[in-house]
Amino acid sequence: MNAFPAADALVRRDLGLLWHPCTQMHDHQTVPMVPIARGEGPWLIGTDGRRYLDGISSWWTNLFGHANPRIAAALAEQARTLEHVIFAGFTHEPAVALAEELVRITPAGLDRVFYADNGSAAIEVALKMSFHYWLNQGHGEKTRFIALTGSYHGETLGALSVSDVALYRKTYAPLLLTPFLAPSPDAYEAEPGEGAAQVAQRRLATLRELLEQHAHEVCAVIVEPLVQCAGGMRMYHPDYLAGLRTLCDEYQVHFIADEIAVGFGRTGTLFACEQASVSPDFMCLSKGLTGGFLPLSAVLTRTSVYEAFYAEYSAGKAFLHSHSYTGNPLACRVALETLAIFRDEPVLERNRTLAAHLAARLAPLRDHPHVADVRQTGMIAAVELVADKASRRPFPAAERRGLKVYLHGLEHGALLRPLGNIIYFMPPYVVSTADIDQLVDTAIEGIERAVHA
Ligand SMILES: *Cc1c(COP(=O)(O)O)cnc(C)c1O
Repeated sequence: MNAFPAADALVRRDLGLLWHPCTQMHDHQTVPMVPIARGEGPWLIGTDGRRYLDGISSWWTNLFGHANPRIAAALAEQARTLEHVIFAGFTHEPAVALAEELVRITPAGLDRVFYADNGSAAIEVALKMSFHYWLNQGHGEKTRFIALTGSYHGETLGALSVSDVALYRKTYAPLLLTPFLAPSPDAYEAEPGEGAAQVAQRRLATLRELLEQHAHEVCAVIVEPLVQCAGGMRMYHPDYLAGLRTLCDEYQVHFIADEIAVGFGRTGTLFACEQASVSPDFMCLSKGLTGGFLPLSAVLTRTSVYEAFYAEYSAGKAFLHSHSYTGNPLACRVALETLAIFRDEPVLERNRTLAAHLAARLAPLRDHPHVADVRQTGMIAAVELVADKASRRPFPAAERRGLKVYLHGLEHGALLRPLGNIIYFMPPYVVSTADIDQLVDTAIEGIERAVHA
């Protein structure tokens, strides 16, 4: 039985000329392409009327529901007022107001805002800005970066350079910069009897050794605070971030916090860095920034960094990085409205209730013979499927067990999109506890099918 509208005209037109991201297009000979007509709260509604509960916030971008009326209204109003203006030499209210709000809500010390238009571009900006800061300070010998194993910071060449997920990196490695890799504080890699806090300390000791040897040639350490998302929703103790802040100060390298996925309430606090009471030197934001409406990113940094570029034109110290759509008024206005929802509604409090419900519903999976780990940080939860529970031997990647869970989800009205054999939940904040029940029930059935296939 083919449960999917394979003959859908839109799908046929798409497959005839489009090329989709993160996809082996050949898969669509068997994996359905899902044509979506509209969205409503946490639901995506197909051209055939089928409904899909968006369990992954459409690649972690959506916070307050699809086609959110409040955000849509702000966007429409802005579109009738000013859709775009060059951002070199010109400015506008949404860009300034958004920068004011970002400086207000992010950790202390982040007082300057640079806009770009997607997450990877924000990473490019942070890497270049860190390098250029040291150059302007007379330290042109600092040209290297330290990244964590299992990290993901995007897929443009610079961002991919500081990423360590083999799927994305391996093929393009000959084109990339080579970072120093420090072992991730990933709690999944705990030794027997070791807790997450001890893993963090052990990994900090290794990072210290790396800095001891290489700090003179290193611009910055870049991390995804608390959760390495694309690397498999691997989670770690906040103590690592506190230790990292201390080490970066001690060895005079920058701390770049990539909060593109974890920012805006995902981990339980507005920003993940708050859980370690640290303020990085650069913070990269995107994804949830616009509530999932439009591409926009921001890099926040310190006044001291900004001042290292501020000089007579002839000194040649200006930062050079520009995108045509920098500071787009529509995107900034939509981001402002998203942040207004955080001010007007008890979002984090509501999320705590939802996260507790999700945790309770996932808890029984801990005893499942093919589940090695159930982990959660706020509104991100993950279930790691393995071939053998005792040894944690993974299923061979080629078996694509996670894909079976994805297909089961689609057949039962849920968008779950596992990362390999890691089934995760990262729903919009507007889901109900009943929605969570549906997501988890569907995932559990899908897991049963996947592990026994
Ligand atoms: C998604 C992501 C990026 C890249 O953002 P894009 O907008 O997809 O380029 C960078 N870092 C992290 C942590 C991400 O999750």
